[in-house]
Amino acid sequence: MASNEERIERFLRRILGGRTAREIADTLKVEDRPFPAHIPGGSSNAADAVEQRWSLLDIPETSRRALHDPEDSCGLEIYERSIENCIGTIKLPVGLAGPLRVRGIFASGDFYVPLATTEAALVASYARGAQVITEAGGCVSILLHEGLRRTPGFAFRSIAEAGLFAIWCMEQKETLRQVAGETTRHGELTDLGIALEGNHIYLILEYLTGDASGQNMVTIATQAVCEYVVANSPFVPKHYFVEANLSGDKKATAHSFVTVRGKKVSAEVTLPAEMVQSRLHTTPQQMERYWKMGAIGAIQSGSIGVQGHYANALAALYIACGQDPACVAESAVGITRFEVTDDGDLYASVTLPSIVVGTVGGATSLPSQQACLRILGLAGEGKSQALAELCGALALAGELSITAALCSGDFTRAHLKLARGRG
Ligand code: NAP
Repeated sequence: MASNEERIERFLRRILGGRTAREIADTLKVEDRPFPAHIPGGSSNAADAVEQRWSLLDIPETSRRALHDPEDSCGLEIYERSIENCIGTIKLPVGLAGPLRVRGIFASGDFYVPLATTEAALVASYARGAQVITEAGGCVSILLHEGLRRTPGFAFRSIAEAGLFAIWCMEQKETLRQVAGETTRHGELTDLGIALEGNHIYLILEYLTGDASGQNMVTIATQAVCEYVVANSPFVPKHYFVEANLSGDKKATAHSFVTVRGKKVSAEVTLPAEMVQSRLHTTPQQMERYWKMGAIGAIQSGSIGVQGHYANALAALYIACGQDPACVAESAVGITRFEVTDDGDLYASVTLPSIVVGTVGGATSLPSQQACLRILGLAGEGKSQALAELCGALALAGELSITAALCSGDFTRAHLKLARGRG
């Protein structure tokens, strides 16, 4: 096998395609030609605004109609608070996984779970995992912790000044809680932490966000906190930013992994050995063996946590149910564990410390997203904690199914059959 350096050289030679350095420079040079027209922008999705945007594009009418049929009675106005420069909608199929029996503190019952995806085998895999969990009497899935951070950063002239500012902020905890509380009826500032780095201070503001996932809510509350501290502190920062990238928003971080971001959930189930054999075509011992090897593989890859494919469940569920799909970045992190019990059965658990979901706000009230929440019986107020517990249960179903498929040799077979139509 070629060394890494040789491979890079070969790759570069291939993409250069025999061109000289001058030819490459010509290809990459700044071109002196007029800018294309600006997109007629804004949030208006009225027919004429959408039409103006389409007038910029030169694609066949059939392609256009696949994205937006002007004669379609269902207008785009409903998306005006969801998107800018809108030209249409993408259609995604939604499948059902389940029944998934959940015995949670908030989520209790049998769920048919809507999943929006174009990944063949995904729904089948979650459906199988869900059915096995249900046949075993259901899984326990429990919300363990809640909190969503915003982390503004403040720059000072010296470490001493930054430290004094930090002490002042800590002394103002109660006032800052009130300032944040004035911006929201359901949000609550529950904790204030500090991270010091040289002459920079990061405030770590942690909130409860009611039934909203809460990213906008905590941004608005934190802006008010920042304005208050800048106006009232005896130590005036040179500059500040409302978010200085310590919150773990839309990225997997070690901090969120060991604390919480959004909602932390653990789910567990014990599957009798006969069921593992008859329904998953493998054994608890083989599942445990795979888990051990997979855990060591994950460590070698530098993974945060050890898990198989939480992202599959969460991306499909988030899209179907009006969650922010980009939050899969932080949500699809955690620990899966498989063990053979003293009785020879299979114990399986998942722990996800940063599930970012809500049942109000964001896109949860859009028609098809709201319909998916209604399928789950989890639309509206008082349901977000149940939705988080359901996420944990679904992730568990997926971990069981994929691991069983890898153990039994079905993994490749299922993809060949369902994605390629062979076998
Ligand atoms: P939001 O729709 O901006 O806010 C939730 C709204 O629902 C608030 O007006 C809240 O009022 C109201 N509300 C009514 N009943 C509620 C209840 N029971 N619990 C909680 N709120 C209730 O949604 P969000 O969750 O704050 O933000 C989610 C969106 O932010 C997602 O679309 C996400 O993509 C986006 N996002 C924003 C940022 C950012 O930095 N701005 C970053 C990442 C993602 P009160 O506030 O008065 O309680």
